[in-house]
Amino acid sequence: MRVTLTRPPGIRRDVALRPPAVAMAFLGEGVPHEAVAVPGVALGEHEVLVAVELSTVCGSDVHTVQGRRPAAVPLVLGHESVGRIVAVGDGGVLDAEGAPLGIGDRVVWSVTASCGSCDRCTAGLTQKCRSVMKYGHERIGVHGELNGGFASHVQLRPGTTIVPVPEQLPAAIAAPASCATATAWAAVARARAIRPLEGTRVRVHGAGLVGLTAAAIAAEHGAVVDVRDPDARRTAVAEEFGATGFDDAPDVVIEASGRAVSVALDEAEVGGTVVLVGSVFPAPAVPFDAEGIVRRLVTVAGVHNYTGADVSAAVGFLTGAGRAYPFATAVGAVHPLSELDRAIAAAAAPGAALRIGVAMR
Ligand SMILES: [Zn+2]
Ligand SMILES: [Zn+2]
Repeated sequence: MRVTLTRPPGIRRDVALRPPAVAMAFLGEGVPHEAVAVPGVALGEHEVLVAVELSTVCGSDVHTVQGRRPAAVPLVLGHESVGRIVAVGDGGVLDAEGAPLGIGDRVVWSVTASCGSCDRCTAGLTQKCRSVMKYGHERIGVHGELNGGFASHVQLRPGTTIVPVPEQLPAAIAAPASCATATAWAAVARARAIRPLEGTRVRVHGAGLVGLTAAAIAAEHGAVVDVRDPDARRTAVAEEFGATGFDDAPDVVIEASGRAVSVALDEAEVGGTVVLVGSVFPAPAVPFDAEGIVRRLVTVAGVHNYTGADVSAAVGFLTGAGRAYPFATAVGAVHPLSELDRAIAAAAAPGAALRIGVAMR
């Protein structure tokens, strides 16, 4: 693809794309995605344009398409992607470590772009920034079509954490870093902030990609790990992600299924920690045994999305200790971008692979 840079008045650069970029617009439940051609973007200061190599379908994409999660349409879904920088805005852009990024760099990026200066950002809660923007979650607008992963290109805004990934890391491992892996890292980090994991019993509910990744990360931190899931095939896979199993009460429970919140709250050992990550929302309220939580001195923590530091650490894990686990097998099939509806249907099917990939062909 040829990319032409010209400098219009103002701080934005017109980036013409020949052939045009393609974004798959979600228009509502039951309506096929529609391909939108984007002949160019206005690239602001400190923005970059990334050509997507591979995106993976997350459970929340499936929920949105099924109408189980509200969304302002039209919208380009997809927030697990790996790609290559093809244009850089004025002023340049830095990676998560503060090093300059350039054309050709292979990267993943955070699901959120945050301002860095509001009260929540300065408190370290960048995923809850007062003016947060989330890739794959925003209604498209003028000069704002390329903000989701189910597209040939994504325009990365200032305040996005961008992490380089090595060429040798398979795209199937790299793409989920910006949701599943970073969320799993954030969940385990939340537990570790409360207690060291070395020698503790960690139970993970949910053997989806978040749960299996959390199992592997907890095992790397010295925990004995047990993974529970109603799907016996997925539970069996957990052995390959560091789970050895146990039947005692867990010291730490990571609830990553959205279905075992009551069990998680009830089973934690005295002095235990329960981290709730469950991502299937809106979810029905569950009964809360306050007396049991009090008497057992249980700490309950919620985790939603993650910070820039978490996605950096997630990539560090995938390129380091994580290579010992079969993350490359998570992606069952890769569909052409033009067949996104088929890809999402495959991801929603019973017994589906942990992830289905989508790539421009
Ligand atoms: Zn996700
Ligand atoms: Zn902010």
